[in-house]
This record gives sequence, C-alpha cells and structure tokens, in this order.
Amino acid sequence: MSVSDHIANRRTFAIISHPDAGKTTITEKLLLLGQLIQKAGSVKGKGSDRHATSDWMTMEQERGISVTSSVMQFPYNGRIVNLLDTPGHEDFSEDTYRTLTAVDSCLMIIDAAKGVEDRTIKLMNVCRLRDTPIISFVNKLDREIRDPIETLDEMEEVLGIAAAPINWPIGSGKEFKGVYNLYTDTIHVYKAGSRSVIPEDIRIQGLNSPEADELLGVYAEEVREELELVRGATHEFDIDEYKAGQLTPVFFGTALGNFGVREMLDDFVEWAPAPLDRDASSRQVVATEEKLSGFVFKIQANMDPKHRDRIAFMRVCSGAYTRGMKMKHVRIGKDVKIADAVTFLAGERSHVEEAVAGDIIGLHNHGTIQIGDTFTEGEELKFTGIPHFAPEMFRRIRLKDPLKMKALQKGLQQLSEEGSTQVFFPTRNNDIVVGAVGVLQYEVVAYRLKEEYKVEAVYEPVNVYTARWIECEDPRMLEDFKRKNSENVAIDGGGHLTYLAPTRVNLQLTQERWPDVEFRATREH
Ligand code: GDP
Repeated sequence: MSVSDHIANRRTFAIISHPDAGKTTITEKLLLLGQLIQKAGSVKGKGSDRHATSDWMTMEQERGISVTSSVMQFPYNGRIVNLLDTPGHEDFSEDTYRTLTAVDSCLMIIDAAKGVEDRTIKLMNVCRLRDTPIISFVNKLDREIRDPIETLDEMEEVLGIAAAPINWPIGSGKEFKGVYNLYTDTIHVYKAGSRSVIPEDIRIQGLNSPEADELLGVYAEEVREELELVRGATHEFDIDEYKAGQLTPVFFGTALGNFGVREMLDDFVEWAPAPLDRDASSRQVVATEEKLSGFVFKIQANMDPKHRDRIAFMRVCSGAYTRGMKMKHVRIGKDVKIADAVTFLAGERSHVEEAVAGDIIGLHNHGTIQIGDTFTEGEELKFTGIPHFAPEMFRRIRLKDPLKMKALQKGLQQLSEEGSTQVFFPTRNNDIVVGAVGVLQYEVVAYRLKEEYKVEAVYEPVNVYTARWIECEDPRMLEDFKRKNSENVAIDGGGHLTYLAPTRVNLQLTQERWPDVEFRATREH
C-alpha cells in the first residue's frame, strides 16, 4: 500500500455531546468493535478495573469527569480510525475546541429522551466554523424516549443542520424491537446485549417479509404506516451535503445495550472524510503531499507518573512520519530529530514506527513546544485557526513556603502550556496571576502543583477583569505603551505582552487612548 492509500484510509474524528448522553459508553463499544479492548468498560474509571494512569486522574475519577484527552486508534473494515477524546467538563472547553480543529469529522450523540442539550449546541457552533461533517447517534433507545420526529425537528431548528435518518427505531424502552434501515430495507433485531461482547447480528430482509410479521406481531401494520410517514417527512441522505456539514445522517440505538453502534460505524468509515486539506499561512496543505507537516493542538504534562514528561499531541496534516526522522520546528527555526514519538492505544503507550496524515503522534516536549506549533520537513509554514482564548477568571497565587518559588514558576509554566490555564507575570511586582475559564481549573492546578511539583499554594482574589494580548507595529509606541501602563502590563507564560485590565471601563479607556495598539481577545497560536 502506498502512503496515499494509507492516508485515504484514515478516519479521524471526535465525539461531541452533552455530559451523560453516553460518550464514554459509545467509546467503549467502538473500541470493542475495533477489537482494541477485550472487555468494554475500561475507558473511564467508573468501574473498578481500571488503574489510574496518573494521580490527578484519581481526582477526575472521583468527580466522574474526564479532564484528559487522549487518542485512540483502531482498525475497522479495512480503515484506520483515530478517535480523539475530549474532556467532558465545561471548564475544559478550550481544550475541546482545539481538539475539534484536529479532526476531519465528528460523531454527535444525543440522548433520545432529552434531545438537543446545551453543550451540544456550543460544540456544534464550533464545528460549524469549519463546516465539519457530523454523523449523529440518538442513544438510549432502551428507555422511554421522546418522539424521534421531534428530536430530528429539534436538531434542524436548534442546531441548524438537516437531519436524514438512516435507520428508524421500532418501538423503544421495553418495547424496543430494533431499527429499520430505510435504505437497505432491513430490520436489525434488538437483543438486550451483554456489555462486553459484540452482539449477534440478526437481520431481517424486507419490512414486508413473513419474518418481519412475526417480529412485529400486531404492530406490523402500524410500523409500516409510521415508516411511510417518516420517509415522507424527513430528509434523504446526501453524501455531498453531509461532507459540506449541512446534513447529518442519523442512527438510533443503545450504546449500553451494545446495539446500533456497529451499524453506525459501518457507514461512518465509508462516508466520513479521509484527511482533509488544511489552511496554512502561505498556502493550503493537501493531505497526500509527500512531505510531512503537522501542528500541535494539545499539550499534556505528567500523563504518566512513571515518565514524568510532557507530551505534545501533533496532528499529522500531510505526508508520513517515520521513526527517527528530522522535522523542522518552524516557530523556533530548528531541526529536531524525533526518535520516540508515541501513540496512545486506549491508554497504553506504544512507540510509533510510522504515522501518516490524519494520525496523531505524541512528541516529548521539554519546554520548547507550544500549542499551535507547526512541524514540517523544512518548509516555512504555519497552520492557522488554532485558537487561544483570553481567560475569564483571575486569581493571584501565593506560596505556602516562599522558598519554593522556582518550583511554582516551573509548575505553572508547564501546566499553562497545556492551554487550559494561563499564567501572567505582572511587570510591576512579583505577583503571579493565574487565569482560567472555569473554577474547576484552579482546583486542578492546585492539586497538580502539590502532587506533581510538590508545591503548596493558595489563591487570593486579584483585581483583574480581563486580559488582552498587545500588539503594535511601531516599536517605539509599544515601549511608550509599556511605560505608561506599567501598572497593568504583564508577560504571559509564552512570553507575550498582555494588558491586565482591572475593569471593563479601564479597558475601554485605554483602548481609546491607544488607537494604534491592538488589544486581542484571542491569540492565534
Ligand atoms: P458521558 O458523560 O457522555 O460519557 O456518558 P456515559 O457514557 O458515562 O453515560 C452516562 C450514563 O448513561 C451512564 O450511567 C451509562 O451507563 C448510561 N447509558 C449510556 N448509554 C446508555 C443506553 O444506551 N441506555 C441506557 N439505559 N443507559 C445508557
């Protein structure tokens, strides 16, 4: 197989859903279908048999939330599927947004009883920025559900995407009989599945067959009429509209009952796009180009206490990586030899020998890699569109033991590289200000500082309303700006000049006073 054949085989996606809709459960089933794990139930530590990969994940597990994001790769029907996990908790949404920049499509999970929920709406808005193709799975058909037609209407109205059912549920809850595929005229018969085995594939060909009569009993006519109505009232699947992000094929099933996920996955690997072209500063990069390029969308410190390292997750955008090859780290203009990139097979690390466009590889980061960095085989290229958001909350951090200053700085710097918190060093004093988008991040940082860097720290309120990244083309004006605003300027963890505004009014006034200085609310990495 040539490299471009390998690339054409990749399907790189993430799951978007509201917490509790069933993302973890579906992930387990997907991995089971991909034969990655023998036994479903080993993805998230809600069960008992999973050993914690790092200490702070214990905290995450206690809370029942997922703050880590990892990459799972599995083969399916001749394709290689890369599933990028995203943190479920709202306070880590930036991480999720950036992960969504590294995929080619998404799977949207909707709880059949609850319909479209908040977080799904937000994530869908992010997907729309790049017209990411979406496949939908309506989950929990083994329970009492809302009328599926209502759910589809809601998807269209609230999410603004046309919904085309591929299959349709026959009954639900105790009366759930299976799903009927509108395109192949087959009934997939539901059998309350066991958790860890791939269910037997029982199919009935033909809604009008005697076998269907037998399955449906007295309901047979009713079901046939309903399906007639459904056909008339819903969109027809169109692959081009799907690929343009305008229409989503919808599947029904129950992840817990291990039913319907395979039907979805079968079509997913056929329809979902192979690695797409990507925008870079100077040109568009085509996935099948011979030379390697990629960008870092996530950094994670201390994933494994045994390794004590930081991993930068790079999405390969074109070409192939082979072990030991040289890459150019474009931002710092250096060639680096990468001998030991890693991948994460359902949490287990293994060394990558070769990866192609669409794959994710983990690079060991010794402090030189930042989110958004581009790697190439020599070309001056920068991938665009990886956002960095201004934090919305600020606190001063204070050490319990003042002698640990060095360790604190190092810890904060490394944790802020992961991108969910940001650290600021005001120029006028020795304060350290931590910015975050959610309260939970402060807890995680304090916990990790203690566990991973042996530093105990407490937070105090600080008079900061918001942060803006400062840019100015005129170096003299910039110097002048820094001098006249020394009370409020700071350097962030990446060395960028920022303005920490104490109030909204102050920000407005300062912007009016300095019309030629740019105050950016997001920084593109
Ligand atoms: P996540 O928060 O989206 O990762 O959701 P989980 O996969 O952890 O599922 C949330 C809860 O819903 C768990 O208690 C699951 O066992 C349950 N669940 C998931 N899928 C189904 C399903 O198809 N049917 C039923 N009855 N429960 C489900």
